[in-house]
Amino acid sequence: MKILLGAHVSISGGLKNACLSAKNTGSNAIQIFTKSQLRWQAKEPDFNEAASFRKCASLQKLTVAAHLSYLVNLGSTDEIIKEKSIEDMTAEIKRCSLLGIKYLIFHPGSNKNLTVEETIKQIASNLDAVMRITAEFKNVFLTLETTAGQGNQIGYKLEHIAKIIKLTGYPERLGVCIDTCHIFAAGYDIRTFADYNEFMKNFDKIIGIGKLCAFHLNDSLKPLGSKVDRHAPIGKGYIGLDAFRFIVNDARLKKIPLIVETPGGDKEHKIDLDTLKNMAPTYIIR
Ligand SMILES: [Zn+2]
Repeated sequence: MKILLGAHVSISGGLKNACLSAKNTGSNAIQIFTKSQLRWQAKEPDFNEAASFRKCASLQKLTVAAHLSYLVNLGSTDEIIKEKSIEDMTAEIKRCSLLGIKYLIFHPGSNKNLTVEETIKQIASNLDAVMRITAEFKNVFLTLETTAGQGNQIGYKLEHIAKIIKLTGYPERLGVCIDTCHIFAAGYDIRTFADYNEFMKNFDKIIGIGKLCAFHLNDSLKPLGSKVDRHAPIGKGYIGLDAFRFIVNDARLKKIPLIVETPGGDKEHKIDLDTLKNMAPTYIIR
């Protein structure tokens, strides 16, 4: 039995480099940005590039997730930002489908002029617009990520995510990604086995374990409840090694991609992944 474990990898120099990085880091699950995450414009992959990416991902038996651009804000009521966000996410879903990417992970959104409840409604409504336009791309799961609650970000409470899913017209197309650094900064403690289990029990009660599509494994540079999102290498932050040991040995997560987004590149990620693999003796990992 293998768990799905890997790193966020760079596509600078082309998509083929993502497969190379997967090899270098010993990943069987990866996350990529399919374009620059800080720009609206995208260079669409041509047919050959997409085909060779699908081929190498399939040869290496990779589970691939993509992270949406940080510019997209589905909580926005500003007509221009709203329109650009819907357009960008729509294009991203099509790109994911072309590249054989199963999960598109994104932060729910924010709005400094609205209450939490109003922002949640706005996010659900903008998500519905995206899902209406992309009705033929149901093979890509739109995966809401938990957040640290920095600024006016929605998603620092499990209830926020549950409500967004409930309010949309297409809940079956939505999934959830738990980021360990974000939930910890948001105030959910997972450092003891009892606390970790309590969190997972709450997740199941509030959202449903069946909705869980991915885990981001990051330690936290900031303390519990700080609401500040700063990733640290595994075991080098306030969370510590134990929580990660519970996760990589949790039988419920065997088919869930576990992805590190810790600081650095392939070299640093390999160290984090080796640490995680060494803590999962119950599973045979290549
Ligand atoms: Zn994350």
